[in-house]
Amino acid sequence: MAHLSQSPSRPTIAAEPEPGSLLSTTLAQLESTFDRLELAEGMRLLIQQPERELSDIAVYKGYRVQHSSARGPCKGGIRYHPGVDFGEVRALATLMSIKCAVVDLPFGGAKGGISVNPADLTPRELERLTRRFAAMILPILGGKRDIPAPDVNTNEQVMAWFMDTISAREGQYTPEITTGKPIALGGSLGRAEATGRGVVIAAVETLHKLGMTPQGAAVAVQGYGNVGRHAANILREEYGCKIVAVSDVSDALYNPHGLDLALVNDHVARNTSGLLAGFGPDGPADHITNAELLALGVDVLIPAAIEGQITGENADSVKARVIVEGANGPTTLEADAILNERGVVVVPDILANAGGVIVSYLEWVQNLQFYFWDIGEVRSQLSRRMRASFEELWTLSGELDLDLRSASYLLAVDRIAKAIQQRGLFLASGG
Ligand code: NAD
Repeated sequence: MAHLSQSPSRPTIAAEPEPGSLLSTTLAQLESTFDRLELAEGMRLLIQQPERELSDIAVYKGYRVQHSSARGPCKGGIRYHPGVDFGEVRALATLMSIKCAVVDLPFGGAKGGISVNPADLTPRELERLTRRFAAMILPILGGKRDIPAPDVNTNEQVMAWFMDTISAREGQYTPEITTGKPIALGGSLGRAEATGRGVVIAAVETLHKLGMTPQGAAVAVQGYGNVGRHAANILREEYGCKIVAVSDVSDALYNPHGLDLALVNDHVARNTSGLLAGFGPDGPADHITNAELLALGVDVLIPAAIEGQITGENADSVKARVIVEGANGPTTLEADAILNERGVVVVPDILANAGGVIVSYLEWVQNLQFYFWDIGEVRSQLSRRMRASFEELWTLSGELDLDLRSASYLLAVDRIAKAIQQRGLFLASGG
């Protein structure tokens, strides 16, 4: 059974978020940004509360939250994970609005998910669950309304089922309803590498600003998955960086002279688990712990695994000059304060890992035009947008003497608030 609710009539978000949760951190960050911008109460409410929420409680709990459509259609992933709940989905939808606004895409934020462990399902069950969920949330989706994408435990196959279910119900081919589709169904070239490539651009631009050259710069990457693997390999191949350490859930490899990534990639490809575990005879590397990797004396540290890795406990031991957040939320608020105090430059997730949503946007544009670009065009568009956003943020942070994260929230919230104001979407009781 599906339930739909729309803000502001329903004060859902007013319920106290759990302390320390992603939602409470996001709301705290918003609150200080509202104060800096001196926003009126009504505007604060409009930006804090999602516009629309839908839950489906048949068999599994499924959610779709649309945070804001002020700047364009809502955009955001669908995750399948037992830990998915409304609080998490609301926080992630809000962060998508912020991320899209930072890199100036004409999208607002959304997020969705089902509280399920897909490993417990057969492929047939996974398909049925996906099609059922797509049908339930279909009334609020649309290429100009809300466009899902893959997220944790969902992939291009899940997006293909989504697109097919909706196309069948609408009676026409609607590739623009999702992004992250297989290439054969309208996906974009360059999507798989996009987030990692965006992380690379953020890292290289930061090094240049600090008067350092990427050639020979020492880099450590936590999380050798989609984001971390592409970032490490592009930094090595295209910029001549020295990748001294990489890790995943199974192991962490270290070589102060630079790892031979060709050997690492070959090992991961041959390993049935797809993990680093067992790397050793293939090439010279020491085995260290993930905690040791985070404390290496490198020029750039890229946390690209999961949230909450650099905390109040270990931030003092971080020796990197620059941290580029490939993962979402790898640095806690407490750690952020310590790193800022110590002069470590942190490029925040909402800018650093925005390459994925930028290429999702490019996929959507290609779908709407039914005209597809080559890889060179996609990379050049991604690069142009990432560089422009980085430059804008770096300048703003310098002008206002703010760290990059605070500056990016300021830029994003200001853009969203202006769109709301210009559209005249104020609450009747608000400012
Ligand atoms: P992934 O599953 O492909 O890779 C994650 C990697 O991290 C794996 O190598 C895994 O073994 C490793 N890992 C997990 N827990 C770890 C731990 N405790 N210590 C060390 N390594 C650990 O995922 P991904 O798509 O690369 O995403 C990584 C992060 O980037 C996530 O936070 C995700 O939300 C974020 N992100 C991804 C994209 C994207 O386009 N894929 C876009 C934006 C943000």
